Amino acid sequence: MKITIPNLPQTIETILTLESSFDRRSQTIGQWVDEHRGYIRDNARMVNSHARNHDISILSIFIRDLLVRNIVGEGGQRLYDAFCETVTRKEDLKTENYRKVLTKARYRWGVPVGSAVMSAVVKYFRDDLQWNWSVYFDQAERCREENFPDDQLLRIKHIKFKVRDLALSNFNPNYAAFDLHVTRVVARIGLLAYGWDVTSDNTVEIGTNPSDNKNYLFLHKLFLRMSDLCEAKFSPVDLDRIFWHLGRSKCGATTECDTCPIQKTCLTGEKRASNKQIQRTADRRR
Ligand code: SF4
Repeated sequence: MKITIPNLPQTIETILTLESSFDRRSQTIGQWVDEHRGYIRDNARMVNSHARNHDISILSIFIRDLLVRNIVGEGGQRLYDAFCETVTRKEDLKTENYRKVLTKARYRWGVPVGSAVMSAVVKYFRDDLQWNWSVYFDQAERCREENFPDDQLLRIKHIKFKVRDLALSNFNPNYAAFDLHVTRVVARIGLLAYGWDVTSDNTVEIGTNPSDNKNYLFLHKLFLRMSDLCEAKFSPVDLDRIFWHLGRSKCGATTECDTCPIQKTCLTGEKRASNKQIQRTADRRR
């Protein structure tokens, strides 16, 4: 059987025109991507300003994302709001306040767990790095191909690639936090095929389960590869946003292939359309 792998740049350009609704707002996926790029630019500006009054703002973004552990959206926002209300100065960085934040946010994994993670993260950025964010972000950029495996944050209990990348994705567009909703869409379209040769050794496995470390590393490399194939017009974070919104609007647990703009190029959409055509022809013959 001959399969034509979808042309990536063309497929992306088509998806960008699709409307997607999120947070009670509706706009094209292209506009969602632009909006998120603006957010990353603003955060990067904060880091590059080296102004000490931004330290708590940068830290609060890390705290929010490093503590989500598989819950995103409302749970993370609640924690972020509670942190910003309670911790406004560096003097507020103490255990009793972490406990207050987690209690106020009704932290799902328990106050002791959350408090231990917060303390360890604060210790790293405040005591070890002395708030020198550039040391951290420069290292992340240098190690982007391998997904920054020596990151000290990954030594903290409960912090794994996914939440670390979620935090990093607010500042560096080369790090995206993959979830099953995104990888399912990528697999359905047929884009996993672009990942056959992302590595020359046996340390990365092709797969779509972000909870598996080897699969996760494969996805990281695949998205970097796809970004290159788009001539860096779209970063891994852009691509993650694009497929996430496509998943929300057309390609979720149930698919709406008939009205999906990439049906003709998507391997799954094309196959379903062709199966329907075969069925219609068979029905007419009966
Ligand atoms: S054509 Fe169907 S399977 Fe393919 S991306 Fe669109 S909704 Fe998903």
